[in-house]
Amino acid sequence: MFDQLKPQPADALLSLIKLYNADPRDSKIDLGVGVYRDETGGTPVFAAVKSAERRLIETQDSKAYLGPEGDVGFVAAVCDLALDGAVADDRVAGLQTPGGTGALRLAIELVVRNLPEATFWVGTPTWPVHMSILTGLGARVRTYEHFDVQRQAFNADAMLAAAREAGRGDIFLLHGCCHNPTGADLAPEHWREVAQILSANGAVPLIDLAYHGLGEGLGADAAGARHMIGALPEALIAYSCDKNFGVYRERTGAVFAIAADCAAAEVAGSNLATIARNNWSMPPDHGAAVARLILTDAELRVQWQDELQGMQARLSRIRQRLAACGKAGDVDLSHIAAQRGMFATLPLSPAAIAALRERHGVYMAGSGRINIAGLAERDCDRFAAALADVEG
Ligand code: PMP
Repeated sequence: MFDQLKPQPADALLSLIKLYNADPRDSKIDLGVGVYRDETGGTPVFAAVKSAERRLIETQDSKAYLGPEGDVGFVAAVCDLALDGAVADDRVAGLQTPGGTGALRLAIELVVRNLPEATFWVGTPTWPVHMSILTGLGARVRTYEHFDVQRQAFNADAMLAAAREAGRGDIFLLHGCCHNPTGADLAPEHWREVAQILSANGAVPLIDLAYHGLGEGLGADAAGARHMIGALPEALIAYSCDKNFGVYRERTGAVFAIAADCAAAEVAGSNLATIARNNWSMPPDHGAAVARLILTDAELRVQWQDELQGMQARLSRIRQRLAACGKAGDVDLSHIAAQRGMFATLPLSPAAIAALRERHGVYMAGSGRINIAGLAERDCDRFAAALADVEG
Protein backbone atom coordinates (compact mmCIF):
# COMPACT_ATOMS: atom_id res chain seq x y z
CA MET A 1 0.00 0.00 0.00
CA PHE A 2 2.56 2.58 1.04
CA ASP A 3 4.45 2.30 -2.23
CA GLN A 4 1.43 4.01 -3.80
CA LEU A 5 2.13 7.18 -1.83
CA LYS A 6 4.10 10.17 -3.09
CA PRO A 7 6.74 11.50 -0.73
CA GLN A 8 5.83 14.93 0.63
CA PRO A 9 8.31 17.82 0.69
CA ALA A 10 10.07 18.25 4.03
CA ASP A 11 9.07 21.32 6.04
CA ALA A 12 11.45 23.98 4.72
CA LEU A 13 11.93 25.64 8.11
CA LEU A 14 12.79 22.32 9.78
CA SER A 15 15.44 21.68 7.12
CA LEU A 16 16.78 25.15 7.84
CA ILE A 17 17.13 24.28 11.55
CA LYS A 18 19.30 21.30 10.61
CA LEU A 19 21.57 23.49 8.50
CA TYR A 20 21.75 26.07 11.28
CA ASN A 21 22.63 23.46 13.91
CA ALA A 22 25.41 22.10 11.71
CA ASP A 23 26.96 25.57 11.18
CA PRO A 24 30.04 25.89 13.48
CA ARG A 25 30.21 29.72 13.33
CA ASP A 26 29.59 31.40 16.72
CA SER A 27 28.24 34.46 14.95
CA LYS A 28 25.40 32.60 13.20
CA ILE A 29 21.90 34.11 13.45
CA ASP A 30 18.65 32.11 13.23
CA LEU A 31 15.76 34.15 11.83
CA GLY A 32 13.83 31.09 10.65
CA VAL A 33 11.46 29.31 13.00
CA GLY A 34 8.60 31.38 14.44
CA VAL A 35 9.18 31.19 18.17
CA TYR A 36 9.92 34.15 20.41
CA ARG A 37 13.52 34.45 21.59
CA ASP A 38 14.98 36.62 24.32
CA GLU A 39 18.23 38.63 24.02
CA THR A 40 20.24 35.48 24.71
CA GLY A 41 18.47 33.49 22.00
CA GLY A 42 16.45 31.38 24.47
CA THR A 43 12.72 30.63 24.54
CA PRO A 44 12.29 30.19 28.29
CA VAL A 45 9.14 29.02 30.08
CA PHE A 46 7.30 32.06 31.54
CA ALA A 47 7.72 32.35 35.33
CA ALA A 48 3.91 32.67 35.57
CA VAL A 49 3.57 29.39 33.66
CA LYS A 50 6.04 27.66 36.00
CA SER A 51 4.06 28.86 39.04
CA ALA A 52 0.77 27.74 37.51
CA GLU A 53 2.27 24.36 36.63
CA ARG A 54 3.38 23.83 40.23
CA ARG A 55 -0.09 24.74 41.42
CA LEU A 56 -1.65 22.41 38.87
CA ILE A 57 0.44 19.46 40.02
CA GLU A 58 -0.62 20.07 43.60
CA THR A 59 -4.31 20.62 42.97
CA GLN A 60 -5.33 18.59 39.91
CA ASP A 61 -7.19 15.60 41.29
CA SER A 62 -8.17 13.78 38.11
CA LYS A 63 -7.16 13.35 34.53
CA ALA A 64 -10.46 11.80 33.52
CA TYR A 65 -11.81 12.85 30.11
CA LEU A 66 -13.26 16.28 29.62
CA GLY A 67 -15.64 16.74 26.69
CA PRO A 68 -14.78 17.82 23.15
CA GLU A 69 -15.16 21.43 24.32
CA GLY A 70 -12.18 20.96 26.64
CA ASP A 71 -11.64 23.09 29.74
CA VAL A 72 -14.69 25.35 29.88
CA GLY A 73 -13.09 27.65 32.48
CA PHE A 74 -10.19 28.20 30.08
CA VAL A 75 -12.58 28.91 27.21
CA ALA A 76 -14.49 31.49 29.27
CA ALA A 77 -11.25 33.16 30.45
CA VAL A 78 -9.84 33.37 26.90
CA CYS A 79 -13.18 34.68 25.63
CA ASP A 80 -12.91 37.54 28.15
CA LEU A 81 -9.25 38.12 27.32
CA ALA A 82 -9.86 38.26 23.57
CA LEU A 83 -13.30 39.81 23.30
CA ASP A 84 -13.57 41.76 26.56
CA GLY A 85 -17.36 41.83 26.46
CA ALA A 86 -17.56 43.15 22.89
CA VAL A 87 -20.52 40.83 22.39
CA ALA A 88 -23.05 39.22 24.78
CA ASP A 89 -21.69 35.94 26.16
CA ASP A 90 -24.74 33.98 25.06
CA ARG A 91 -24.00 34.78 21.40
CA VAL A 92 -20.60 33.07 21.66
CA ALA A 93 -19.93 29.35 21.29
CA GLY A 94 -16.37 28.57 22.37
CA LEU A 95 -14.29 25.38 22.35
CA GLN A 96 -10.77 24.65 23.47
CA THR A 97 -8.64 23.40 20.56
CA PRO A 98 -5.17 21.94 19.98
CA GLY A 99 -3.52 25.32 19.36
CA GLY A 100 -4.56 28.01 16.94
CA THR A 101 -4.06 25.48 14.15
CA GLY A 102 -6.80 23.28 15.64
CA ALA A 103 -9.04 26.34 15.97
CA LEU A 104 -8.54 27.25 12.32
CA ARG A 105 -9.12 23.66 11.27
CA LEU A 106 -12.44 23.53 13.18
CA ALA A 107 -13.64 26.92 11.93
CA ILE A 108 -12.79 26.10 8.32
CA GLU A 109 -14.20 22.59 8.46
CA LEU A 110 -17.44 23.92 9.98
CA VAL A 111 -17.88 26.16 6.95
CA VAL A 112 -16.70 23.75 4.24
CA ARG A 113 -18.87 20.87 5.50
CA ASN A 114 -22.01 22.91 5.83
CA LEU A 115 -21.63 25.68 3.27
CA PRO A 116 -19.45 24.24 0.46
CA GLU A 117 -20.40 27.15 -1.81
CA ALA A 118 -18.73 29.69 0.48
CA THR A 119 -15.57 31.32 -0.85
CA PHE A 120 -12.69 32.04 1.54
CA TRP A 121 -10.99 35.39 0.80
CA VAL A 122 -7.33 35.30 1.75
CA GLY A 123 -4.78 38.12 1.56
CA THR A 124 -1.33 37.09 0.36
CA PRO A 125 1.24 36.38 1.49
CA THR A 126 -0.23 34.58 4.49
CA TRP A 127 0.79 31.86 6.94
CA PRO A 128 1.18 28.84 4.59
CA VAL A 129 -0.90 26.58 6.86
CA HIS A 130 -3.96 28.75 6.14
CA MET A 131 -3.68 27.71 2.52
CA SER A 132 -2.90 24.07 3.19
CA ILE A 133 -5.87 23.61 5.55
CA LEU A 134 -8.16 25.32 3.07
CA THR A 135 -6.99 23.38 0.04
CA GLY A 136 -6.79 20.14 2.04
CA LEU A 137 -10.48 20.52 2.89
CA GLY A 138 -11.36 21.43 -0.69
CA ALA A 139 -12.47 24.95 0.19
CA ARG A 140 -13.07 27.55 -2.49
CA VAL A 141 -10.38 30.19 -2.14
CA ARG A 142 -9.85 33.61 -3.72
CA THR A 143 -6.74 35.59 -2.95
CA TYR A 144 -5.86 39.25 -3.06
CA GLU A 145 -2.64 41.10 -2.32
CA HIS A 146 -2.42 41.99 1.38
CA PHE A 147 1.16 43.20 1.14
CA ASP A 148 3.44 44.17 -1.73
CA VAL A 149 6.82 42.78 -0.67
CA GLN A 150 8.83 44.76 -3.23
CA ARG A 151 7.32 48.07 -2.19
CA GLN A 152 7.03 46.95 1.46
CA ALA A 153 3.50 48.32 1.46
CA PHE A 154 0.19 47.09 2.89
CA ASN A 155 -2.34 47.10 0.04
CA ALA A 156 -5.46 48.39 1.78
CA ASP A 157 -7.15 49.08 -1.56
CA ALA A 158 -6.82 45.44 -2.64
CA MET A 159 -8.18 44.27 0.71
CA LEU A 160 -11.18 46.60 0.58
CA ALA A 161 -11.88 45.70 -3.06
CA ALA A 162 -11.85 42.00 -2.13
CA ALA A 163 -14.18 42.66 0.81
CA ARG A 164 -16.59 44.44 -1.57
CA GLU A 165 -16.53 41.48 -3.94
CA ALA A 166 -17.24 38.93 -1.20
CA GLY A 167 -20.75 37.57 -1.22
CA ARG A 168 -23.24 36.65 1.47
CA GLY A 169 -21.90 33.74 3.56
CA ASP A 170 -18.37 34.04 2.15
CA ILE A 171 -15.57 33.97 4.71
CA PHE A 172 -13.09 36.84 4.95
CA LEU A 173 -9.89 35.71 6.67
CA LEU A 174 -8.03 38.37 8.63
CA HIS A 175 -5.00 38.29 10.93
CA GLY A 176 -6.10 39.92 14.19
CA CYS A 177 -2.65 41.43 14.80
CA CYS A 178 1.07 40.82 14.12
CA HIS A 179 0.48 39.61 10.56
CA ASN A 180 2.46 36.47 9.72
CA PRO A 181 4.62 36.77 7.60
CA THR A 182 4.65 40.54 6.93
CA GLY A 183 3.98 42.36 10.22
CA ALA A 184 1.64 44.62 8.21
CA ASP A 185 -1.54 45.04 10.26
CA LEU A 186 -4.79 46.81 9.52
CA ALA A 187 -5.04 50.30 11.02
CA PRO A 188 -8.19 51.04 13.08
CA GLU A 189 -9.80 52.77 10.08
CA HIS A 190 -9.24 49.67 7.94
CA TRP A 191 -11.00 47.50 10.53
CA ARG A 192 -13.90 49.97 10.51
CA GLU A 193 -14.07 50.00 6.71
CA VAL A 194 -13.90 46.22 6.31
CA ALA A 195 -16.51 45.77 9.05
CA GLN A 196 -18.82 48.20 7.27
CA ILE A 197 -18.40 46.42 3.94
CA LEU A 198 -18.91 42.94 5.38
CA SER A 199 -21.93 44.08 7.33
CA ALA A 200 -23.45 45.37 4.08
CA ASN A 201 -22.76 42.25 2.01
CA GLY A 202 -23.28 39.54 4.63
CA ALA A 203 -19.79 37.99 4.44
CA VAL A 204 -18.38 36.60 7.70
CA PRO A 205 -14.94 37.41 9.13
CA LEU A 206 -12.64 34.62 10.31
CA ILE A 207 -10.11 36.36 12.53
CA ASP A 208 -6.87 34.52 13.32
CA LEU A 209 -5.57 35.90 16.63
CA ALA A 210 -2.30 34.06 17.22
CA TYR A 211 -0.08 36.82 18.63
CA HIS A 212 -2.36 38.68 21.04
CA GLY A 213 -0.21 40.99 23.16
CA LEU A 214 2.93 40.81 21.02
CA GLY A 215 2.10 43.80 18.80
CA GLU A 216 1.13 46.86 20.80
CA GLY A 217 -0.46 45.31 23.87
CA LEU A 218 -3.48 43.22 24.85
CA GLY A 219 -6.01 46.04 24.33
CA ALA A 220 -4.75 47.46 21.04
CA ASP A 221 -4.02 44.04 19.50
CA ALA A 222 -7.61 42.86 19.91
CA ALA A 223 -9.28 46.20 19.16
CA GLY A 224 -9.84 45.38 15.47
CA ALA A 225 -11.37 42.00 16.22
CA ARG A 226 -13.55 43.47 18.96
CA HIS A 227 -14.78 46.23 16.69
CA MET A 228 -15.55 43.73 13.97
CA ILE A 229 -17.58 41.37 16.13
CA GLY A 230 -19.39 44.28 17.73
CA ALA A 231 -20.44 45.49 14.29
CA LEU A 232 -21.48 42.19 12.68
CA PRO A 233 -24.04 39.52 13.48
CA GLU A 234 -21.64 36.63 12.87
CA ALA A 235 -17.90 35.97 13.11
CA LEU A 236 -15.37 33.21 13.74
CA ILE A 237 -12.24 33.66 15.84
CA ALA A 238 -9.28 31.28 16.00
CA TYR A 239 -7.20 32.06 19.09
CA SER A 240 -3.77 30.73 20.00
CA CYS A 241 -2.24 30.91 23.49
CA ASP A 242 0.92 29.23 22.28
CA LYS A 243 2.89 32.44 21.65
CA ASN A 244 1.50 34.78 24.29
CA PHE A 245 1.87 32.17 27.05
CA GLY A 246 4.99 30.60 25.48
CA VAL A 247 3.44 27.12 25.67
CA TYR A 248 3.93 26.20 21.99
CA ARG A 249 4.26 22.45 22.36
CA GLU A 250 1.32 22.24 24.77
CA ARG A 251 -1.01 23.05 21.84
CA THR A 252 -3.26 25.59 23.51
CA GLY A 253 -5.98 27.49 21.69
CA ALA A 254 -9.68 28.11 21.29
CA VAL A 255 -12.23 28.69 18.58
CA PHE A 256 -15.17 31.05 19.00
CA ALA A 257 -18.25 31.20 16.81
CA ILE A 258 -20.15 34.44 17.35
CA ALA A 259 -23.73 33.96 16.23
CA ALA A 260 -26.67 36.30 15.72
CA ASP A 261 -28.45 35.02 18.84
CA CYS A 262 -28.23 32.54 21.66
CA ALA A 263 -30.09 29.73 19.83
CA ALA A 264 -27.82 29.98 16.77
CA ALA A 265 -24.74 30.01 19.02
CA GLU A 266 -25.87 26.76 20.62
CA VAL A 267 -26.27 25.10 17.25
CA ALA A 268 -22.88 26.40 16.07
CA GLY A 269 -21.30 25.07 19.27
CA SER A 270 -22.83 21.64 18.83
CA ASN A 271 -21.50 21.47 15.27
CA LEU A 272 -18.03 22.52 16.35
CA ALA A 273 -18.09 19.89 19.13
CA THR A 274 -19.07 17.17 16.67
CA ILE A 275 -16.26 18.06 14.28
CA ALA A 276 -13.78 18.19 17.18
CA ARG A 277 -14.94 14.76 18.34
CA ASN A 278 -14.31 13.32 14.88
CA ASN A 279 -10.88 14.90 14.61
CA TRP A 280 -9.17 14.66 18.00
CA SER A 281 -12.04 13.77 20.33
CA MET A 282 -10.88 16.30 22.88
CA PRO A 283 -7.99 18.73 23.18
CA PRO A 284 -4.85 18.23 25.31
CA ASP A 285 -5.39 19.62 28.80
CA HIS A 286 -2.15 20.89 30.28
CA GLY A 287 -1.58 24.21 28.49
CA ALA A 288 -5.21 25.22 28.81
CA ALA A 289 -5.33 24.36 32.53
CA VAL A 290 -2.19 26.47 33.04
CA ALA A 291 -3.56 29.42 31.04
CA ARG A 292 -6.85 29.20 33.00
CA LEU A 293 -5.00 29.29 36.32
CA ILE A 294 -3.02 32.33 35.19
CA LEU A 295 -5.98 34.23 33.78
CA THR A 296 -8.19 33.63 36.81
CA ASP A 297 -5.60 34.43 39.51
CA ALA A 298 -4.96 38.14 40.05
CA GLU A 299 -1.30 37.72 41.01
CA LEU A 300 -0.37 35.26 38.27
CA ARG A 301 -2.19 37.35 35.72
CA VAL A 302 -0.18 40.46 36.56
CA GLN A 303 3.04 38.45 36.43
CA TRP A 304 2.09 36.99 33.04
CA GLN A 305 1.12 40.39 31.64
CA ASP A 306 4.46 41.82 32.74
CA GLU A 307 6.35 39.01 31.03
CA LEU A 308 4.28 39.37 27.86
CA GLN A 309 4.78 43.13 27.90
CA GLY A 310 8.53 42.54 28.18
CA MET A 311 8.45 40.41 25.04
CA GLN A 312 6.42 43.01 23.19
CA ALA A 313 8.82 45.76 24.27
CA ARG A 314 11.82 43.75 23.08
CA LEU A 315 10.22 43.17 19.67
CA SER A 316 9.52 46.91 19.37
CA ARG A 317 13.11 47.74 20.35
CA ILE A 318 14.54 45.41 17.71
CA ARG A 319 12.16 46.90 15.14
CA GLN A 320 13.36 50.42 16.02
CA ARG A 321 17.00 49.35 15.84
CA LEU A 322 16.56 47.72 12.44
CA ALA A 323 14.57 50.63 11.07
CA ALA A 324 17.27 53.03 12.22
CA CYS A 325 19.70 51.19 9.92
CA GLY A 326 17.71 52.64 6.98
CA LYS A 327 18.80 51.34 3.61
CA ALA A 328 20.82 48.13 3.59
CA GLY A 329 21.87 47.88 -0.05
CA ASP A 330 18.58 47.86 -1.96
CA VAL A 331 16.54 46.82 1.08
CA ASP A 332 14.89 49.64 2.99
CA LEU A 333 14.60 48.55 6.62
CA SER A 334 12.83 51.72 7.75
CA HIS A 335 9.37 50.14 7.20
CA ILE A 336 10.03 47.61 9.93
CA ALA A 337 9.31 50.13 12.71
CA ALA A 338 5.70 50.59 11.56
CA GLN A 339 5.06 46.83 11.36
CA ARG A 340 4.09 44.69 14.33
CA GLY A 341 4.88 41.38 15.98
CA MET A 342 7.47 38.73 15.27
CA PHE A 343 7.77 38.86 11.49
CA ALA A 344 8.78 40.93 8.51
CA THR A 345 9.17 39.80 4.91
CA LEU A 346 12.06 41.39 3.06
CA PRO A 347 12.34 41.71 -0.73
CA LEU A 348 15.31 39.36 -1.15
CA SER A 349 16.18 37.11 -4.08
CA PRO A 350 16.85 33.40 -3.48
CA ALA A 351 20.51 34.11 -4.35
CA ALA A 352 20.70 36.83 -1.67
CA ILE A 353 19.07 34.52 0.92
CA ALA A 354 21.61 31.79 0.09
CA ALA A 355 24.50 34.28 0.26
CA LEU A 356 23.32 35.53 3.66
CA ARG A 357 23.43 31.96 4.90
CA GLU A 358 26.73 30.99 3.31
CA ARG A 359 28.74 34.19 3.72
CA HIS A 360 27.24 35.58 6.93
CA GLY A 361 25.64 32.67 8.81
CA VAL A 362 22.22 34.37 8.66
CA TYR A 363 19.44 31.78 8.32
CA MET A 364 15.98 32.76 7.09
CA ALA A 365 13.04 31.27 5.21
CA GLY A 366 13.23 31.15 1.41
CA SER A 367 10.29 33.57 1.28
CA GLY A 368 12.42 36.35 2.81
CA ARG A 369 10.50 36.16 6.10
CA ILE A 370 12.57 37.00 9.14
CA ASN A 371 11.72 36.36 12.78
CA ILE A 372 12.51 39.69 14.42
CA ALA A 373 12.96 37.90 17.78
CA GLY A 374 15.88 35.93 16.34
CA LEU A 375 17.99 39.10 16.56
CA ALA A 376 19.70 40.31 19.71
CA GLU A 377 20.02 44.08 19.85
CA ARG A 378 23.74 43.81 19.24
CA ASP A 379 23.07 41.79 16.03
CA CYS A 380 21.02 44.47 14.27
CA ASP A 381 23.86 46.47 12.72
CA ARG A 382 25.67 43.31 11.67
CA PHE A 383 22.50 41.97 10.04
CA ALA A 384 22.00 45.24 8.14
CA ALA A 385 25.64 45.13 7.00
CA ALA A 386 25.18 41.53 5.80
CA LEU A 387 22.07 42.59 3.85
CA ALA A 388 24.00 45.46 2.29
CA ASP A 389 26.75 43.05 1.33
CA VAL A 390 24.47 40.58 -0.49
CA GLU A 391 22.06 43.15 -1.93
CA GLY A 392 24.49 46.00 -2.56
N1 PMP B 1 -2.04 31.49 12.92
C1 PMP B 1 -0.88 32.08 12.61
C2 PMP B 1 -0.89 33.29 11.75
C3 PMP B 1 0.32 31.55 13.08
O1 PMP B 1 1.47 32.14 12.75
C4 PMP B 1 0.29 30.39 13.89
C5 PMP B 1 1.55 29.76 14.41
N2 PMP B 1 2.66 29.81 13.65
C6 PMP B 1 -0.94 29.82 14.19
C7 PMP B 1 -2.09 30.41 13.70
C8 PMP B 1 -1.10 28.57 15.00
O2 PMP B 1 -0.51 28.52 16.20
P1 PMP B 1 -0.47 27.22 17.09
O3 PMP B 1 0.94 26.90 17.28
O4 PMP B 1 -1.18 27.62 18.34
O5 PMP B 1 -1.23 26.14 16.38
